[in-house]
Amino acid sequence: MSLPKDRKNNYSESAIKDRISFLSRRSGFSIRYLKSSSIDAELTRGNIENIIGFAQVPVGAIGPLKINGKYANGDFYVPLSTTEGALISSYNRGARVVSLSGGANVVLVKDSMQRAPFFELENVYKSGEFVEWIKKNFNKLKEVAESTTDHGKLLGCDTYIQGKIVFLRLSFSTGDAMGMNMITKASEKLCAYISDNFPVVRCAIESNMAVDKKPASINSIMGRGKTVTADVLIKEHIISRFLRTTAEKIDKTYRQMVMGNLMAGVLGMNGHIANGIAALFLACGQDLANISESCVGYSYAEAVGKDLYVSLNLPSLVVGTVGGGVSLPTQRECLEIIGCYGRGKSKKFAEIVAATILAGEISLISAIVAGDFTRAHERYGRNKPLPDPGNSQA
Ligand code: NAP
Repeated sequence: MSLPKDRKNNYSESAIKDRISFLSRRSGFSIRYLKSSSIDAELTRGNIENIIGFAQVPVGAIGPLKINGKYANGDFYVPLSTTEGALISSYNRGARVVSLSGGANVVLVKDSMQRAPFFELENVYKSGEFVEWIKKNFNKLKEVAESTTDHGKLLGCDTYIQGKIVFLRLSFSTGDAMGMNMITKASEKLCAYISDNFPVVRCAIESNMAVDKKPASINSIMGRGKTVTADVLIKEHIISRFLRTTAEKIDKTYRQMVMGNLMAGVLGMNGHIANGIAALFLACGQDLANISESCVGYSYAEAVGKDLYVSLNLPSLVVGTVGGGVSLPTQRECLEIIGCYGRGKSKKFAEIVAATILAGEISLISAIVAGDFTRAHERYGRNKPLPDPGNSQA
């Protein structure tokens, strides 16, 4: 039996009601909350199909978080959405420490999005010729790709060869959009032009070298989306008062954790970047699957006398403030809280993400060193199961 669909308007109240009734009957459970949102389902057109309601995840806020960036400058109150108790408290403590230390210094060093089509040629000699042809015709290829978009610009095309197969890794600037729809359309036009003008056997729009929605070393080295780095120097009296430890102990623990990280073969080196990235992405309407590459990052801690230097590198932060899910009502509100909704705001948003993550890294490592880690989770993070609401129809 298939889900009820309304061919005329699948976002109508009646279409949603029919699907909810269908799912209630099938599961034997009376569905109450999914459908109870004040948001008009019509607004989700283009973001979801077969809508049955809204996943209502709580949103908290941290701050003030002082940021010294080129695009984000000043004190920010950052919305984070999570179901993990203690996460907000931990990031809030980090934000306090960062702010009391003069703020997070943030620099955005790279901004480009990738698609990686591949081409099969007749043989390895043709592959060699193809690579030369691509280099020679780059300006024409750029013109073709950019004919599909106002904001997308083809910045470069790296080539990788495996015998008769050639992989192109295309890099675009995408304005304030994260850009995957934009550059997919541009890449498709590019592939069609190449196929019409060079004797290729076949081609496909994506080889998995982009690398979209998967953790990968190539993104970590070459960058994907935005590459942002941040640092802060924390004075001894702030470490002892708010982090209840010393720079020396954090320095030593950090180095020992690097060893554990190495032995485990982790991609990236960090405490819990994924926590902050996921909470920010959820609150601010980012594509959640891009957490996979966005959370591969590097944290660094070093004692400088009795003070502590901490830095962060997010090489592949995939974010946008135009397009995708950012215009949905609560997602837009969260972006507005940090002044990051819409045009001209994506770099500012990336800097705020980096500063927030830096705050979270400082708090976590300190909690581990000071022995607060378990205690904090016990205090804030133990949601007991609710009693059975007794609405099971089974
Ligand atoms: P989009 O909403 O598809 O496109 C952004 C639109 O905004 C474009 O039409 C662009 O016009 C316009 N625009 C207006 N002002 C802009 C500005 N200042 N900067 C940039 N664009 C501006 O968004 P997208 O970022 O390209 O794609 C994001 C979506 O792609 C997400 O929903 C994600 O889930 C999905 N996605 C797609 C793929 C895929 O393979 N197609 C893969 C992963 C994710 P112009 O293009 O004319 O400039």
